[in-house]
Amino acid sequence: MAKPSEIFGSLVFNDAVMRERLPKATYQALRESVYSGSELNVDIANVVAAEMKNWALEKGATHYAHWFQPLTGITAEKHDSFIAPVGDGTVIMEFSGKELIKGESDGSSFPSGGMRATFEARGYTNWDPTSYAFIKDKTLCIPTAFCAYGGEALDEKTPLLRSMEAIGNQAMRIMKLMGRDDVKKITTNVGAEQEYFLIDKTACEARPDLVYCGRTLLGAKPPKRQEMDDHYFGAIQPRIKLFMEELNEELWKVGILSKTQHNEAAPSQHEMAPIFTETSLALDHNQLTMEILAKVAKRHDLICLLHEKPFVGVNGSGKHTNWSISTDKGENLLKPGKNPENNKVFLIILAAVMQAVDDYQDLLRVSVATAGNDHRLGAHEAPPAIISMFLGDELDHVIESIVTGQELTKLKKKMLELGAMALPGVVKDTTDRNRTSPFAFTGNKFEFRMPGSQQSIGDACFVLNTIVAESFRQFADRLEGSEDMDAAVDALIKEVFTKHQRIVFNGDNYTEEWEKEAEARGLHNMRNTVDAAPALIDEKNIELFKRHGIFSEIESRARYEIKLEEYAKLRNIEALTMIDMTRKNILPAVSAYSNDLANTAIAKKELGVNPRAEIQLLSEISDLQADLLDKINALESAVDSTESFTLTEQAPIFLKDVLPKMEELRAVADKLETLTAEEYWPFPSYGDLLFSTK
Ligand code: ADP
Ligand code: MG
Repeated sequence: MAKPSEIFGSLVFNDAVMRERLPKATYQALRESVYSGSELNVDIANVVAAEMKNWALEKGATHYAHWFQPLTGITAEKHDSFIAPVGDGTVIMEFSGKELIKGESDGSSFPSGGMRATFEARGYTNWDPTSYAFIKDKTLCIPTAFCAYGGEALDEKTPLLRSMEAIGNQAMRIMKLMGRDDVKKITTNVGAEQEYFLIDKTACEARPDLVYCGRTLLGAKPPKRQEMDDHYFGAIQPRIKLFMEELNEELWKVGILSKTQHNEAAPSQHEMAPIFTETSLALDHNQLTMEILAKVAKRHDLICLLHEKPFVGVNGSGKHTNWSISTDKGENLLKPGKNPENNKVFLIILAAVMQAVDDYQDLLRVSVATAGNDHRLGAHEAPPAIISMFLGDELDHVIESIVTGQELTKLKKKMLELGAMALPGVVKDTTDRNRTSPFAFTGNKFEFRMPGSQQSIGDACFVLNTIVAESFRQFADRLEGSEDMDAAVDALIKEVFTKHQRIVFNGDNYTEEWEKEAEARGLHNMRNTVDAAPALIDEKNIELFKRHGIFSEIESRARYEIKLEEYAKLRNIEALTMIDMTRKNILPAVSAYSNDLANTAIAKKELGVNPRAEIQLLSEISDLQADLLDKINALESAVDSTESFTLTEQAPIFLKDVLPKMEELRAVADKLETLTAEEYWPFPSYGDLLFSTK
């Protein structure tokens, strides 16, 4: 294997490549336009495109594609080759600035919510020069934003880019007020920890539920799950090690800073974490990571399951999204420093985040609401559906002293007592981790733990950027023009910390007591996607998005419809898959086994042996089988009854009527699995799947 430093970024048209290959004036004009967000003129784009093409051809590429992120959750790309005829039967390789900047694609083939009626079918992809072009499968991929003819966003990228601008602008107002004239630009950064399962390909492909839905819809509990805690951080199996080596190589090639990898809590569950980057790049990189995970897994005869809850009874997968805010010089403004109580910039940002999280709990909640994540949130292994914040002892003390006006008593850093003289003393962090918190301050960043593993981080990130931008806006409006800025800032911070204390919770988020207490505090508890979706069309939130230029009202309403449509479609596929598996595979399998039991009973009787076991089992199985058939029929008619409704209307029906019937059907099928001889059971068991890579 080549050295990581040689591989890293070898397939990326990154800054170093541009600096080396582009004429100086072109390079500077491009940098300037990226930095200030101004439009790039077409002459410059022509020069960039020509050099991009030359570079790509040298790397063996033959095609280019505008790479974008429609609201399907996965990326899309339309490939064009570089060839252009010259009239004598031969071709040359061409790529113009126009082709680099803008592409056209059929907008109506992607989710567009209620906008379908109001916009032309055409959709456009626009080059996003803040993210580097890269080569994937011999194709030069140009990161783009995707919008409709009238400019309405149809993707994950557009609102995120808009939110980066919004928070940048509002944060700069605060920086000015705080006397930070040295700061020229503010941006947010994200590191997204990706959890996933790796399952043997043969076992996985024998399960239609995994093939169609990415999660098991049936399956009895195996004798062993994760109770021995022997997988988390455990030694990595050789087969998985090989997979991870190749994964890293592929990620590094396209410039993804893959850094950490380890086994997770559930059997066959793993995690990959990159080093954080600017948020829009983190979004692109995470989408690419998910794609590469799936691709590399196949090469190792594995299937990578990115679903939030592939298996009942073991932990699901999330995507902890670590967020911070920094200056153009890379200074992390969420670093509290030795004396946070005197770090006014830090305190004002902390206050802004606290107010944002409290005022817009509903938006944060809906940003992570998907059918898949509904199975994970609140399942006592992941944060609950209630949003709260964890700040840790040190900051709690600081806030308490600000709120009460009492003098701050410093927490003493303690030495960890390791009990062995040979070990060097380790200074204990002043805060322990609270792993149950949905939104935790972890030293110099916030960790939003609710996003689901297969979800785009786009939604969570643009919501976070926007709600904090709104706090900054309100703060700046209030502070601008103050005569005694220090006093005004102190008063503001005190007021915000006092007002929003209810959002801070340091206890165990997994308990029922917290649910009760949260209710008493007046916090939202939106248990599922259907409950959470209306946040997108709440008047206050529509106004927020309009004010910061994130969404027009039409765009907000479209997101709402898409959210519910997607929910209904997914549940429909799941229900149909379940009906298929139980009707076409489980019923006949149980009949075959019953037949075997009956024949054995008859044979025993002829021999004068009492067939008590066979008869008892047979009657138990027969009853359950009849029950199974009833449940299949009930589920089927529940699904049928949704047909006369629009997809948006179907979502609550799937939640309230179909989903419980799926659970009832599953209970009977799983019971039958435990009673049926293994050789008759048509699907690999949970044990076969979860321990398939051992
Ligand atoms: P853990 O949360 O498990 O302790 P780390 O501290 O290594 O792990 O961080 C997890 C993720 O947070 C990584 O992706 C890391 O790059 C990211 N991260 C670290 N610092 C920041 C920061 N200032 N802003 C955003 N993300 C960060
Ligand atoms: Mg973490």
